[in-house]
Amino acid sequence: ELRNDLAKLSSPARKFLAGDHRMLIGGRRVDAESGAALEVVDPTSGDVLGAVPAGDAKDVDLAVKSARAALESGPWSRMKPVERERLMLRLAQLLEESAEELAEIESVNSGRTIPNTRAFDVNLSVDYLRYMAGWSTKIHGETFSPSVPYVPDTNFFSYTLREPIGVVGAITPWNVPLGQAIWKIAPVLATGCTMVLKPAEQTPLTALRFAELIIEAGIPEGVVNIVTGLGETAGAALVDHPDVDKIAFTGSTEIGHLIASRCAGTLKRYTLELGGKSAMLVFPDADPEVTIPGTAMAIFGNHGQNCCAGSRLYIHKDIFEEHMAGVAEFARNIRLGSALDPQTEMGPLVSMKQRERVLGYVESGVSDGAEIVTGGCGVTESGAYVEPTVIQNVRPDMKIVQEEIFGPVLVASPFDDLDDVVRQANATQFGLGASIWTNDLRRTHSLIPRLKAGTVWVNTHNVLDLAVPFGGVKRSGVGRELGEEAIRHHTELKTVTMPV
Ligand code: NAD
Repeated sequence: ELRNDLAKLSSPARKFLAGDHRMLIGGRRVDAESGAALEVVDPTSGDVLGAVPAGDAKDVDLAVKSARAALESGPWSRMKPVERERLMLRLAQLLEESAEELAEIESVNSGRTIPNTRAFDVNLSVDYLRYMAGWSTKIHGETFSPSVPYVPDTNFFSYTLREPIGVVGAITPWNVPLGQAIWKIAPVLATGCTMVLKPAEQTPLTALRFAELIIEAGIPEGVVNIVTGLGETAGAALVDHPDVDKIAFTGSTEIGHLIASRCAGTLKRYTLELGGKSAMLVFPDADPEVTIPGTAMAIFGNHGQNCCAGSRLYIHKDIFEEHMAGVAEFARNIRLGSALDPQTEMGPLVSMKQRERVLGYVESGVSDGAEIVTGGCGVTESGAYVEPTVIQNVRPDMKIVQEEIFGPVLVASPFDDLDDVVRQANATQFGLGASIWTNDLRRTHSLIPRLKAGTVWVNTHNVLDLAVPFGGVKRSGVGRELGEEAIRHHTELKTVTMPV
C-alpha cells in the first residue's frame, strides 16, 4: 500500500483534518489578515489534506504584540514558578491523552510511520514538557563574595539573577514537526518567556492542534502564539521584527546563515540548529551484529531526514566488504509503504520536491563516478518515495560527500590510516554528530577529542537524552538545545551589586 487510506484514521484525527486549522494569536483562533491560505499535502499521494492560513508580516506583528503584552503584563513571567510548572504538567497530560490523534495527523502530513511519530513527536514531547516543567522552579543565579572590588576602600556584595530573555521567535523544520515545535515551546514556558512559533509550511497541522491543547491547559493568552506561513514571508518577518528578543531556529544551514546576518541588525540573540553530514567510523574489533544494523539505522531512521543522520560511513578496509554487504542487505529489506500501513518500515519523504532533491544528489554522485550498491530510485510517480540507497567509490570532494542530502542516502568508503580517516571525518563544513564503532577504549578516548562534532556517539548513533545538551559546531549551529543549556539560552543574566 503506497497511498494512505484516510478512512483508517481515528475519528478525532479525521475530525481535526476536516475542521478548524486557524492560527493562535492572543489566545484566539484566527485566519491570516489577508485571508490567504496554503495547501497542506499528504506525501504518499500528493492529495491535499486541507489548508492553513498563509500568515505574513501583518499577522507576525499582531502575534509579536500579543507576546510582548503577555510578557509585560506578567501573567506568565511573574506567575509563581510552581504554578507555571503545574500548567506545563497539565499540558503534558493533555498531549499524552491526545497521543494517537496527534501521531496520526503527523504521519499523514509528514509521511513518517505511526510508531515513529508516536515516539518522536508525541511521547518524547510529553517527556520534554515534564522535564522542562521541573526546571521552572530551579532557575537561579549566583552570589559573589567581595573579591576584586573596583573601589579600593569599600566592599561590595554582588549576585546574579536569571531573567526571561523576553519574546522568542521560534522557526521549525518539517522533519520532526511537533517534536521540534515542543523543543522550542517547553524552555520558553519554563523560563517565563513568551513566544511566536512559525512551523514549517509543509507540516503545520500538529502545531495547530497543539494550540488547542495550550488553550485547554490554561496557559495565559498571548504566551504562545502560532503563525503559519512561508519562510520568506512569515519567517523573515519574525526574524526582522524589532520587538523579538531572540530567534530559536532549526533548519538548513543556508537559512541559518541568513538568520544570523538578519539578527545582527537588531542584535537579537539567536540559537541555530542546522544541518549535518555526520561521519561513522567502524573498526574491525567491533561486533558486526551491532555495527551493521546500528550504522544502517543511523542513516535510514526517519528516512534520512534527520539532522544528525550518519550519512558518511568510513569502514576499516579489513571489514569493508563484509560490512557493506550487511548494510546493503539491511537497506534492501526495508519495507516501503504508506505511513498508516502497520507493515511499513519507511514511508515517503516529506514532499515531491524533497524527492527530486534527493534523487538529484544520487544522479550527481553517479555522474561524478560513484557507484550505487543498492537503491537509487524513486518508487512511484505520485508518492514522494525514495529507495534506501547505499553508494560507494566516492571521493572526498564529491557533492554527495560534502553536502547534506537529508534523505535515505549513505556514502561509504574504506579506510586504512587513522589520521587520514579523522581528517576526512572532519573535512566538511558541518559538525553536528559523529560515531565511533569499536570496543577499544584507548582508541575511543583518543578519537573523541579529535572529532569536530557537537555529539560523539560510541557504538550507537542518533541517541538523544532530553536532559543532555544537543547542538552543533562549525556550520551545524550556534548554542545548544535540551537540558540546562536550553534554560541558559532563554534567560539573560542581570548583575546586582551593593556596598556592604
Ligand atoms: P529550511 O531552512 O528550508 O526551513 C526551516 C524553517 O525555516 C521553515 O519553517 C521555513 O519556513 C523557515 N524559513 C525558510 N526561509 C526563511 C527565511 N528567509 N527567514 C526565516 N525563516 C525561513 O529547512 P527545512 O528544509 O525545512 O529542514 C531541513 C533542515 O533542517 C536540514 O538542513 C536539517 O539538517 C535541519 N535540521 C537541523 C536540526 C538540528 O537540530 N540541528 C534538526 C532538524 C532539522
